[in-house]
Amino acid sequence: MASKAAVRPLVLLSKQTRGFATAARRTTAPLQQTTRPARFDRQQLRNGFRRGYADQKKVKKGRWGVLKWTWRLTYLSVLGGLAYTGYGIYINRNPVEQHAPDPNKKTLVILGTGWGSVSLLKNLDTENYNVIVISPRNYFLFTPLLPSCTTGTIEHRSIMEPIRNFLRHKKASVKYYEAEATKIDAEKKVVYITDDSEIKGSISQNEIPFDMLVVGVGAENATFGIPGVRENACFLKEVNDAQKIRKRIMDCCETAAFKDQDTEEVKRLLHMVVVGGGPTGVEFAGELQDFFENDLRKWMPEIQDNFRVTLVEALPSVLPSFSKSLIDYTEKTFKEETIEIRTKTMVKNVTPSYIEAEFTDPSGKKQLEKIPYGLLVWATGNALRPLVKDLMSQIPAQKDSRRGLAVNEYLVVKGSENIWAVGDCAVANYAPTAQVAAQEGAFLARLFNQMAKTEEIETELHVLSDEQGKAPNQESRDKIFADIKDLQKRLRRVKQMGPFEYSHQGSLAYIGSEKAVADISWVTGNVASGGQLTYLFWRSAYLSMCFSTRNRVLVFMDWMKSYIFGRDVSRE
Ligand SMILES: Cc1cc2nc3c(=O)[nH]c(=O)nc-3n(C[C@H](O)[C@H](O)[C@H](O)COP(=O)(O)OP(=O)(O)OC[C@H]3O[C@@H](n4cnc5c(N)ncnc54)[C@H](O)[C@@H]3O)c2cc1C
Repeated sequence: MASKAAVRPLVLLSKQTRGFATAARRTTAPLQQTTRPARFDRQQLRNGFRRGYADQKKVKKGRWGVLKWTWRLTYLSVLGGLAYTGYGIYINRNPVEQHAPDPNKKTLVILGTGWGSVSLLKNLDTENYNVIVISPRNYFLFTPLLPSCTTGTIEHRSIMEPIRNFLRHKKASVKYYEAEATKIDAEKKVVYITDDSEIKGSISQNEIPFDMLVVGVGAENATFGIPGVRENACFLKEVNDAQKIRKRIMDCCETAAFKDQDTEEVKRLLHMVVVGGGPTGVEFAGELQDFFENDLRKWMPEIQDNFRVTLVEALPSVLPSFSKSLIDYTEKTFKEETIEIRTKTMVKNVTPSYIEAEFTDPSGKKQLEKIPYGLLVWATGNALRPLVKDLMSQIPAQKDSRRGLAVNEYLVVKGSENIWAVGDCAVANYAPTAQVAAQEGAFLARLFNQMAKTEEIETELHVLSDEQGKAPNQESRDKIFADIKDLQKRLRRVKQMGPFEYSHQGSLAYIGSEKAVADISWVTGNVASGGQLTYLFWRSAYLSMCFSTRNRVLVFMDWMKSYIFGRDVSRE
């Protein structure tokens, strides 16, 4: 160490000497030239040269300074980003030991692994309860990017997060059963579960008793009882729906290109109909048209004259929850993209090759029209799951609720004491969105954490009050009394939790051609924007919202992959 320290100044010194020497060499060269012509005053020339040289250096230093700092900042942010990503990956791959659950604690059963339930689990202190999660889906799905999976812009596994990985990182271990809850007995406090997977063991049905239950099972696809929808249409809710659509798009294209295919049949096969003008339907239509424009048209030129996308909506406009200017912008953009929008058109019947839809003609008369299709995607909203319907039928206070489990401001299912509901299966007067479900889940986690703290303090208070009764003298009685007062103050603070309040962050939708629309809640009100910059915002917002570092990296790589190589047009 000592020798190193001694060497360092020497090295510096030699550098400085070298620096002076170079400077001296540089400055002497022009001076030698000036000695020859006698007309010039040497001092003047030197001053002039110095001033010029100094000025030039000043300008250069300023520019170089900015560049140097920009470079350093970029370099440091890249290093910081890499280190953060690396750390995230390391933590994800190396879970630490978990505490075993305490059998004396209450059993909290959570149904579902969607937005509501996972947000609850993310924020819950699992040491406070014996937590059991039941869901037929052993992963969390980032639904906002699901429409991109239908065309291969993003691979489905990039937006899935295994629930096992996630639960393994909780402090106290959580039990997970891959099963469907088939019935909830609210009175007996039991959930009946069934293993619905292909492979079943000798036991595939069981019961789970609970002290507290959270229902976060989401919703089914609404068909409004229209005949033929379930049999013939594709839905867009789960990963297998997106995979089915992706296969079907390519099947339609390849069948249309079959030798000597009938012209009418080619037109039918290449007509892609989307029913539902909400964000899901609009995003899917935009993604599909992009797929055609950027890839299909190139690799299958024979289909380019007949490929069409039509969006059918019963209401007078698409994206009804967005502001008027954005609705107009979306409709204009769709027109440019050649996506046909059929508003005020109600589907009445669906057959394997066409839909029958009712629309109002310009004279105001209702007409029925047959619209042939190759692919039909149904994205019209939510309906109750049988499990939820059954639970509602057991609770008299739920008899007037139609759209889901009616909950109070603390998300307690009305008419029950120990059952809560979150997300699409709960009716709390908010739209059925991931944003609402996630905020409800986070609220419940805070509530449960506080309830556990309250119970802990109340137990301590009981112990202290017993001790106070047995205290040998006044001094120790006073001391215990002071502790009790402290605890009571803490208890009051902990119990102060307001009801659930939803804070709307805004709505986003991709509309194709690298354009998006956004209605963002801002301090001063609502900001509506649409276009390519909004599309960059859409991408960065969703990238940052992805569940894990792994998802973020995979989604980013998928975007890069489809940008560089294009989307894959193979059928599987
Ligand atoms: C394609 C698409 C795009 C979307 N885009 C957006 C968007 O951009 N922004 C936005 O805010 N919202 C969006 N949404 C809506 C959002 O996904 C839903 O509102 C959200 O998923 C609701 O969360 P949830 O927890 O109630 O239900 P889900 O996320 O649907 O999860 C339900 C869970 O319950 C499980 N389950 C089902 N039945 C049972 C049973 N019997 N027993 C146990 N478990 C069961 C399911 O397997 C699943 O794990 C989109 C939805 C779709 C389909």
